[in-house]
Amino acid sequence: MNNDLENCLLAIKQEILALSKSPLYDYRLKSGNFPVIGEGNHRANLMLVGEAPGKNEALTGRPFCGQAGRILDELLLSISLKRDDIYITNIVKDRPPANRDPLPEEIEIYAPFLERQINLIKPKIIAGLGRFSSTYLIENFSQLNNIGTISQIHGRLFPGQAEYGAITIIPLYHPAAAIYNPNLKDVLRVDFEHLAECLNSS
Ligand code: URA
Repeated sequence: MNNDLENCLLAIKQEILALSKSPLYDYRLKSGNFPVIGEGNHRANLMLVGEAPGKNEALTGRPFCGQAGRILDELLLSISLKRDDIYITNIVKDRPPANRDPLPEEIEIYAPFLERQINLIKPKIIAGLGRFSSTYLIENFSQLNNIGTISQIHGRLFPGQAEYGAITIIPLYHPAAAIYNPNLKDVLRVDFEHLAECLNSS
């Protein structure tokens, strides 16, 4: 075990736990929720970045443990990956009330923690789950703006540059989208195959 890495990841957790300046902090305390920091392999080549915790995630402190998580597990299994092989986190670490979309100021306050996680774990491929994380990742690591909607860009590979080297960003539909629109599960399956090809050749 690399103690520096573990200590730096622990410091991120402690800072988020104490993040009273977050607009979501009071709601966290009032609801008895936990922030969702992220979990998985600290040496993963693949990092998945979701949007924000939902109800189940905020109650347990674990990412993607509800219905969207079950779809995600199916998709991972379809490319022979387990949660232990990858690292999963969100761009916003606290649950927004009533599962509303994250606000720009919430993304702004939590994104530096995501960047620190990326620079510590050093994944070669980062997949955004949904438009918020995908847009953030492409704008920040591929330096592109006005990239289009998730329906236009899903499954494409965007070369990017992180502090530690070259990376690839892959925007994907959020797995929860497949709960309401089962056709999107087939789209996600194809995009996950693309992701697997990229991972195997990295
Ligand atoms: N949706 C997300 O974006 N993240 C989670 O952790 C759960 C649901």
